[in-house]
Amino acid sequence: MGVEDDLLARLAAADERIARHRATVEGIVASVRSENVDDEHDPEGATLAWERQQAAALLADAEADRRATLAALERVGAGTYGVCEVCGRTIPAERLAARPSTTRCVEHAR
Ligand SMILES: [Zn+2]
Repeated sequence: MGVEDDLLARLAAADERIARHRATVEGIVASVRSENVDDEHDPEGATLAWERQQAAALLADAEADRRATLAALERVGAGTYGVCEVCGRTIPAERLAARPSTTRCVEHAR
């Protein structure tokens, strides 16, 4: 499997996660609305608010992953994939395998 296939599989997985977490967030919002739960004063409302926050954080993660993966696919198209954006050296294959959307070598990783 080439790097492009890997990235496309990753993109599909990110899409699936985004759909799942978005459904969770919307489900919680809908249940809060239908039960007319008071977020601040009802203990159940606080739990739901916390669950919504967790789902929203996972959703943001998945969306960031999707953006990074799309950017990586663009770099594959441009022929700059796997090249460190700081020093221009080739990023080691094992690092790319662990973090396929990385744009920096180990030395210049943030
Ligand atoms: Zn570098």
